[in-house]
Amino acid sequence: MREIIKEKIFGIIIDKNDVVLNSFGYDKNFTKIDFDENLKLKNYLKREIMMIIESGLKRARINKKKLVYSGICIENEGLNENVNLFIEFFLDYTIIIFERNEEISNEGTDNNVKKLFKYAVDELKKANTRLERIAYYDELTGISNIYYLKELINSSINKKEEFTLMQIKIERLNIIKEILDRKHLRELIKDFSNLLKNTLKEDEVISKIDDENFIIFTHQINKDDIELKCESIKNIFKFPISNNDLEVNLNVKISIVSYPKNGQYDDELIKNLEIGIMNGINKKETLTFFKEEMKEKVKEKIYIENALIKALEKKALFMNYQPQIDLLSSKIVSCESLLRWNNEGVLISPNKFIPVAEEIGYIAILGDWVINTVFEQASKWFRQGLIHDFISFNVSPSQFYLQNIVGIIENALNVNRLDGNKVCVEITEGLSILNEDKAIRNLKKLKDLGVKIAIDDFGIGYSSFNYIKKFPIDIVKIDKSFIDGITKNNEDYNIVKATIDMCNNSNIKIIAEGIEEMAQHQKLVSMGCTHGQGYYYSKPLNIYEYENFYQQNKNKTISFEIF
Ligand code: C2E
Ligand code: MG
Ligand code: MG
Repeated sequence: MREIIKEKIFGIIIDKNDVVLNSFGYDKNFTKIDFDENLKLKNYLKREIMMIIESGLKRARINKKKLVYSGICIENEGLNENVNLFIEFFLDYTIIIFERNEEISNEGTDNNVKKLFKYAVDELKKANTRLERIAYYDELTGISNIYYLKELINSSINKKEEFTLMQIKIERLNIIKEILDRKHLRELIKDFSNLLKNTLKEDEVISKIDDENFIIFTHQINKDDIELKCESIKNIFKFPISNNDLEVNLNVKISIVSYPKNGQYDDELIKNLEIGIMNGINKKETLTFFKEEMKEKVKEKIYIENALIKALEKKALFMNYQPQIDLLSSKIVSCESLLRWNNEGVLISPNKFIPVAEEIGYIAILGDWVINTVFEQASKWFRQGLIHDFISFNVSPSQFYLQNIVGIIENALNVNRLDGNKVCVEITEGLSILNEDKAIRNLKKLKDLGVKIAIDDFGIGYSSFNYIKKFPIDIVKIDKSFIDGITKNNEDYNIVKATIDMCNNSNIKIIAEGIEEMAQHQKLVSMGCTHGQGYYYSKPLNIYEYENFYQQNKNKTISFEIF
């Protein structure tokens, strides 16, 4: 070995096969690392190594440990007291650094150092497999972790290679966590990562970022190829994963960034992936290609998150009520309560803030408030004779899993001395995110309380008709998108007609949503539809407007055509 033995801090860099790539020492003032110029080491690697050594030593000193493996400090009794050993693992190489205490004598140093190198390499060999795994691999799934991914990104950037990163996020894992115990959750995540792993091509790498986020590194840069790959990932999760006798339906969101287009370094690329994911959350599409302008939208979302938490306190939330009409008599028979948020004078749509509330776990508090407010109003209106059948309220699928929804509804019925059949809960197909067992059990309990159950936005999901078979449904609300088409195309007409016929034959009440025109109203009547809701009759109204509208409508014997 060379002169470095006289230096206080010195080390070697070895490759995967323990071949020494270079050795180095600090200069006398410990300010400059002096590499052995006889051994070839690429310059960029030298710069990187210098930074690593600095930060590695700092970490080791802070932890006051003798032995440090890639940031993990380990006590090692067998090590010479006067020497500290630091080992850092990287993708293609390992750095071993020795720090001698002042007291070590220079006499016989040559031999001492040789012994130390041997010791370090032996130690390394023992620890290598285990530590490399800790440093670079996820313990649960066995796939690589974020540190490995960053190494890979940086090594590709250094080689001036183009590449694409795809982040895959499991949607609503917070709800799944409520249902599965730790053991089964771990199994589910393992199954999920195995399914993703199976989609990889030879030079692609998958990394686990946390329980719900995974990133695939690929050299594919063609947009069509990427889309095809995403489609194949999406397809895997069309089928439920079996777990602990449960069938868990997982949905994913995928975000894409490419280098060099969407970022110049590892953290920037990873951050932009997350921005893509955040942007995609409220959307129906699974796939989001990152765009610069998304940064602004994410800022807005973070603003909504913060403002929403204060909204209840500030009394900025209130309910509107939209009349539901018996199409034959044109009388108001029921109404749907719809949540409104007046944020500093600006009305924010529930389509915007409900998904945010779900994501940040605020939906339980909001949902609780909605139920109590609506039931109190319902109780008043029934006493005043302002409602004929029922008031309906919307619940998000997650409320069925995060809350004791049955207890909350039962309590609100009792407090307001309201019969269960005076309220109707509107659910959507999202309810089957997990095995529906729990949801069905809860719905049955609600039914035992007399509560009516409506399926909202009927027709837009994959398996609407299955829902009617599985769930104890009283009312089907046909989604506005079909009503828009009934006077224009056969396809929508046929779907709506089939739904109406099926419901009429199964004793299920049907409400057409989003009726805006007289022609739609007339068509629906001719198709046998019994109930409707939409701007054609009335927009959602505040309490005062609703009461007026109800009184006016009550005294009319003629139909809505004149409104
Ligand atoms: P939804 O339950 O399907 O409610 C119907 C939506 O259609 C309402 O939008 C209503 O204002 C709108 N609408 C009704 N008739 C017409 C029409 O003729 N034309 C048009 N263009 N729109 C019409 P809104 O109030 O913005 O609510 C949107 C969604 O937000 C609701 O869809 C529901 O999913 C959710 N939401 C509203 N309130 C609550 C709530 O209290 N809790 C929960 N979890 N979700 C709620
Ligand atoms: Mg609804
Ligand atoms: Mg709807």
